[in-house]
Amino acid sequence: MTVLIAGGGIAGLTMGLTLHQIGIPFHIFESVKVPKPLGVGINLQPTAVRELMEMGLADMLGRVGIQARDYGFYTKTGVEIWTEPRGLDAGYNWPQYSVHRGQFHMALFEAVKDRCGADCITTGARVSGFSNTGSGVCVSVETEAGHQEIEGTMLIAADGIHSAIRAQMYPDEGAPVWGGAIMWRGTTVAKPFLTGASMILAGHDTHRFVSYPITETDPQTGCATINWIAEKTVDPTAGFSKEDWNRQIDIDLFVDDFTDWAFDWLDVPAMIRGAGTVYEYPMIDREPVDCWTDGCVTLIGDAAHATYPVGSSGASQAILDARILGAAILEYGIGEKAAQIYEAQVRPIANRVTLANRGNGGPDAVMQMAEDRCGGDFSHLDAVLPYADRAAHALAFKRLAGLSVDGINKRPSII
Ligand SMILES: Cc1cc2nc3c(=O)[nH]c(=O)nc-3n(C[C@H](O)[C@H](O)[C@H](O)COP(=O)(O)OP(=O)(O)OC[C@H]3O[C@@H](n4cnc5c(N)ncnc54)[C@H](O)[C@@H]3O)c2cc1C
Repeated sequence: MTVLIAGGGIAGLTMGLTLHQIGIPFHIFESVKVPKPLGVGINLQPTAVRELMEMGLADMLGRVGIQARDYGFYTKTGVEIWTEPRGLDAGYNWPQYSVHRGQFHMALFEAVKDRCGADCITTGARVSGFSNTGSGVCVSVETEAGHQEIEGTMLIAADGIHSAIRAQMYPDEGAPVWGGAIMWRGTTVAKPFLTGASMILAGHDTHRFVSYPITETDPQTGCATINWIAEKTVDPTAGFSKEDWNRQIDIDLFVDDFTDWAFDWLDVPAMIRGAGTVYEYPMIDREPVDCWTDGCVTLIGDAAHATYPVGSSGASQAILDARILGAAILEYGIGEKAAQIYEAQVRPIANRVTLANRGNGGPDAVMQMAEDRCGGDFSHLDAVLPYADRAAHALAFKRLAGLSVDGINKRPSII
């Protein structure tokens, strides 16, 4: 019998490739009928890149992304607060990749079809519920043809932040949690800033700009495709009706919030104005929960631990989840025991990261420290926020998120 996977996003497709690698039959149900390259930029941490490379996907990464070299935090006036090297430059044995989420997703989709056969995925198939049967699981699937009950050995729910399987486990949970931040996301073809492969965040908690290139610089034009997110926090009690990644928005509705952000190394208003299509999205996450597993059913990726996109952890953790669950299945067999071993290893860390990303534990919290302590004049930054404090903050997050260089370089392969 087959392992059933709800959701053909980054977590579900990595899960499929992992099960194929260890010789376990699987089937993915994806609700979207024709998957398209949706979304903008995401970052893949070295720990996730290692997994993709160990699955033989190094060439694909080179095609759909660019190796990030450094990650810097800046004030709203463009003054540097903290910059650290990333990937190989930071001493990891694997690079960090900045990729276009949609192109990366499509490449994973093709890899599953090539390696495992197109009949491993049914698109236009929405998983709506499950029941444990004692010997496995029975999954409800809705397609154009109607309702079906499908039996499998296990259900792995990789159905994202609006997971139907999580909703069955937690019927009172309701909508994702919105803290009031709105993100406007786009890509612009422009000359890259700083090293040409730099990821930057400028501003502070309630008003900021994130940007990094997601393609190599074209030697002919000197330009690259640059991903950016402009972000502002409003009163969350006013409510936000849409949580769709595809809600398009007019640039003129928000660009004035960034008029003064033309730094000598990055012209933020020009970057915003250069974009073709801009998407509006609320910064949402999910309250951490105490259990991801119910019998032979377990949650992975955003279904398990949706977090704010501030520490490059969403897609990276989704990939790791699939690998760690795969390793547990390899060791303990398909079923509840493997799910529990996976959950025990991942849930405490993922829940801590979700909470840290909400408040002052995330790597970006150093920006709010600068804002609070400098009172708008950042010329005395070193005096009010000493270098040692900034370094200690950066190290604390890496420890919390399990991203220490030695920890990753020295650990054996997951599979
Ligand atoms: C369209 C889209 C665009 C995104 N764009 C960005 C972005 O630009 N930047 C960013 O940081 N993050 C983005 N994300 C989120 C990011 O991909 C995830 O945070 C991360 O990769 C974790 O992946 P995941 O597989 O757990 O979830 P997702 O990538 O959200 O994948 C979940 C998949 O499950 C499918 N699905 C949902 N419900 C069901 C169901 N009941 N039955 C079957 N299938 C179901 C969805 O169609 C989707 O393909 C986007 C997600 C989506 C779906």
